[in-house]
Amino acid sequence: MDLLSAILPTPIQELSNAITEKAGIRLYIKRDDLIHSTVSGNKWRKLKYNLLEAQSQGQRRLLTFGGAFSNHLYAVAAAGKALGFETIGIVRGEEIVEKLSPTLMFCKEQGMNLQFVSRAEYKLRNEADYLQKLAAKFSNPFIIPEGGTSAFALQGVAEMLPEINAQLSQIPDYIAVAAGTGGTAAGLLSVGANVLAFSALKGGAFLKEDIKALLNGRHSGDLQLFTEYHFGGYAKYDEELITFMNEFKRKFDIQLEQVYTAKMFFGLFDLIRKNNFQKGQTIVALHTGGLQGLLKS
Ligand SMILES: *Cc1c(COP(=O)(O)O)cnc(C)c1O
Repeated sequence: MDLLSAILPTPIQELSNAITEKAGIRLYIKRDDLIHSTVSGNKWRKLKYNLLEAQSQGQRRLLTFGGAFSNHLYAVAAAGKALGFETIGIVRGEEIVEKLSPTLMFCKEQGMNLQFVSRAEYKLRNEADYLQKLAAKFSNPFIIPEGGTSAFALQGVAEMLPEINAQLSQIPDYIAVAAGTGGTAAGLLSVGANVLAFSALKGGAFLKEDIKALLNGRHSGDLQLFTEYHFGGYAKYDEELITFMNEFKRKFDIQLEQVYTAKMFFGLFDLIRKNNFQKGQTIVALHTGGLQGLLKS
């Protein structure tokens, strides 16, 4: 399986600046952005066991869900093409068929069958009745939830923790992660990591319940959810965020993107500056990738 020829373990690097030094903490970045060229970051982690399951069931077709800028749709389209699955993407918003985003253009080029649905219909994406209808309409595809977030996703994400512990020769106090569906946060929590999750969307408080549901009663690490670093909402940004992202690039020579990872690092540095951590603590921030969605300026 070509997809498995990823860079593993992904590199880990220390990030040190005036803020981390003043706080006396150690900050690392886990470079999952380097894991694979088209199936990047947490999408690779979350898809791995979904794809292995689809293969072992002998499935030929994958069906999944996403918006116009979905890194997940992009990853599924690329993985499907590489592994010989047909792919169907249920896309939120009928109006966007008129003007495809670069993400959706890529999906189309990979051969994904894009089905545009109304926002009202898209809301049904986790309802059993609706999924049954889709299954009938598209000859029983292997259905992957939005964002790839399923029990299989948690399993894939969980594999990151032993990688990190081995690379640092210690268990970090916290792992910081950007959150969209919360699947990545849940995967890390499921194996006992203490997680700092930064919502990339406005009104992200619901993530607490969603993550709890994903954990399904499992014993887990502690979750701290931060909902104030959304910069106006999902895929929204302002001058301050872009300036931060550019400065981060200059200082560390690592590219972030404005939808998830720049917001997470902005929030994390803000918390470090405000003394949310104790001297001597270790934080690993996850670069979840998503650079295909980088703002082109
Ligand atoms: C999808 C995505 C996330 C959000 O992951 P969830 O598991 O849905 O919370 C974070 N960062 C990047 C770069 C992503 O593409």
